Amino acid sequence: MVRKSARISPVMEAMAVSTSAQGTDELDRNAPRICGVCGDKATGFHFNAMTCEGCKGFFRRSMKRKASFTCPFNGSCTITKDNRRHCQACRLKRCVDIGMMKEFILTDEEVQRKKELILKRKEEEAMREAQKPRLTEEQSQIINTLVEAHHKTYDDSYSDFAKFRPPVREGPVTRSASRAASLHSLSDASSDSLNNSPESMDKKLSSLFSMCQDGVMSPDSRDENSRLSMLPHLADLVSYSIQKVIGFAKMVPGFRDLTAEDQIALLKSSAIEIIMLRSNQSFSLDDMSWSCGGPDFKYCVNDVTKAGHTLELLEPLVKFQVGMKKLNMQEEEHVLLMAICLLSPDRPGVQDHVRIEAMQERLCETLQAYIRVHHPGGRLLYAKMIQKLADLRSLNEEHSKQYRSLSFQPEHSMQLTPLVLEVFGSEVS
Ligand SMILES: [Zn+2]
Ligand SMILES: [Zn+2]
Repeated sequence: MVRKSARISPVMEAMAVSTSAQGTDELDRNAPRICGVCGDKATGFHFNAMTCEGCKGFFRRSMKRKASFTCPFNGSCTITKDNRRHCQACRLKRCVDIGMMKEFILTDEEVQRKKELILKRKEEEAMREAQKPRLTEEQSQIINTLVEAHHKTYDDSYSDFAKFRPPVREGPVTRSASRAASLHSLSDASSDSLNNSPESMDKKLSSLFSMCQDGVMSPDSRDENSRLSMLPHLADLVSYSIQKVIGFAKMVPGFRDLTAEDQIALLKSSAIEIIMLRSNQSFSLDDMSWSCGGPDFKYCVNDVTKAGHTLELLEPLVKFQVGMKKLNMQEEEHVLLMAICLLSPDRPGVQDHVRIEAMQERLCETLQAYIRVHHPGGRLLYAKMIQKLADLRSLNEEHSKQYRSLSFQPEHSMQLTPLVLEVFGSEVS
């Protein structure tokens, strides 16, 4: 009881007045924490010596009062935890002997200043905490919605692929592939946009495109009519993907509030780009192909040439897929990029530019914020992702060109689905 009432040490006072320096504490962490004056349990360095709270308070009060004590005994009392209040003179002498110094005692003004300093530091810390980049409630909501929309429209078991008209890979590489391949030398295939990638990647790509060339050089393929054996299957696959892209678009926040005309204009021009983006999920750098389940549904460049596309599209497309993979995007970033691609205000036929631009801007800000908060080392990622949108524009252009020449041939256009014909058709509604 007595001991308890003797401990007058409100936490604030202790904090403000204690002179214990962190460094000193650190240094003596393993030293016994015993009061140098009375032997009680010490709480740290106070006024330059290791003491208990009691002796700390005693020394400060004595100094402030400028008290002068006289020993009632013979001036050489041994101070202990239990008798320390009996002789103030010898207790104070002991304080000075172990190095306690009045210069270390703060004046009331200094105490106040120190309290203010502590408060200021706390406020600064709170401010730093508040300024840390973080997503707003709205931004988190957008991301959740987009991720959910993607999950609902991208089945990574690819189980529906068995319902398409079956893939047919027999037969030679087509004439259109032959024509395109001859335009591309192997050295071209491994240069330009990939010049900062590992050599092995270049080799993979060049052997990939040379495979196509070798195929077309075989004598019997030259006279073979362009049968496009993969066209029915891939037309169904593209048609299916367009449906899924439409489903995704409908769930993009704000998209359904646009006029029907603008929704259609955006979908018609971005569908193929979004398909190229989403297909990156199945693309593998190991063999440069899209793997969608079993061996039947594993698509290499050669397969796509058998649906009427040439290397003028496929070579930059594969390079695009490689570049996308190397960005190591998180799913949140991937779905944001698809939504940003969809909501491009500069598409042909778009009426409400201002509104769509504002929607796209909001998504871009969300993507930037997401990268800042969740993608360590992603300083350049946003710029690289936006660059991919530019790549998609030229891929889109080449695809349209090739699609047009394909659709002009009735024997091929009859293999397409009504949805493909409508979405890739050139008439602007
Ligand atoms: Zn003590
Ligand atoms: Zn004494």
